[in-house]
Amino acid sequence: MGNATVSRVDLALLRERLDAGGEPAFRGAQVWEWAARGVGAYAEMTNLPAALRRRLEHDVPFSTLDVEQEEQARDGTVKALFRTHDGHPVEAVLMRYRDGRRSLCLSSQSGCPLTCTFCATGQMTFGRNLTASEILDQALHFRRIEPVDHAVFMGMGEPMLNLDPVLEAARLLPDVGITHRRTTISTVGWLPGLRRFVGEAEEPVRLALSLHAPTDELRSELMPVNARYPLADVLAECVRYFELRRRKVFIEYVMLGGVNDRVEQARSLARLLDPKVFKVNLIPFTFTQIGSVAQYQSSTHKGISAFKHVLQRAGIPTTVRLNRGRDIKAACGQLAAIAPETESDDIPRGLDAPTDARSAPKP
Ligand code: SAH
Repeated sequence: MGNATVSRVDLALLRERLDAGGEPAFRGAQVWEWAARGVGAYAEMTNLPAALRRRLEHDVPFSTLDVEQEEQARDGTVKALFRTHDGHPVEAVLMRYRDGRRSLCLSSQSGCPLTCTFCATGQMTFGRNLTASEILDQALHFRRIEPVDHAVFMGMGEPMLNLDPVLEAARLLPDVGITHRRTTISTVGWLPGLRRFVGEAEEPVRLALSLHAPTDELRSELMPVNARYPLADVLAECVRYFELRRRKVFIEYVMLGGVNDRVEQARSLARLLDPKVFKVNLIPFTFTQIGSVAQYQSSTHKGISAFKHVLQRAGIPTTVRLNRGRDIKAACGQLAAIAPETESDDIPRGLDAPTDARSAPKP
């Protein structure tokens, strides 16, 4: 993958430095345990000899990521913008729910090479795959703020294009407080990675599929990746996941006013999905004034509930996702590492100000 130079500061480096210093094997595990429990510096790792703590301070940077900016939304959501040591932006989000849940939205890549037309991440330049440590360091950053218990790989990037680091990170998340059952990996349906995930990952990590359209024709328009890996093949792989793990697959469906939200489309979606295998999560579209994303607008509340009722009548469990952190651009599809001073008007439309999709005034 050509990132030998960028993975210089990670768990592998830690192990290597400990070995080189003749340290016993358990030291690496001790350091990880402290870090996973939210400690912010080697100095606090009190069961390590002081000289070793000082040496690590000097030899192994504490995180593979630098925090460049952090913002808190009115609803308590926190978004962090990090930089990798070779300068790539990475965003991650901590979502705080009233019932006490603390859920992390993690990035698997800097940017995304796929170009889903409604997603801001696809509009930025693709950087590269992140290493397992770069993924874990996003989680550890928030763990230092407070205990966390859920994680979704729904930040920047396509996890199935970077499967090994994603799985390596997911496998360590329980140490941070996030069990496999509370970890979800979301994909556009990138089949080579998805097939490996279904066949090889034995952990009960949840699978989510970004579907967004009930036909290949519309889906290919919204998500160019569909031309390569058509709907039927991707859904078949999700069914295989269910058969192997007995865990339902979440279908994500972003509600685009006048595009994919008609009642007939809900009916054809219902025909595609076996209610024993799938649950649907409707996502209100978040508007961003950037490239192709700016052509869309969210369905109205009424449109979303009509769509939901069709699915529910067909026996498919359906929920509407609470979109969190929109005022700081932390909501679904808004992670694009846009610096505040370069932002243009991005008042979310549709949901807040229902207007006709095609006639909404452009700023
Ligand atoms: N690449 C993976 C992981 C990212 S998940 C995937 O696509 O599944 C991010 C989720 O947010 C996806 O379901 C994506 O389709 C959705 N999303 C993208 N842009 C959005 C927008 N503008 N409004 C609401 N949801 C959006």
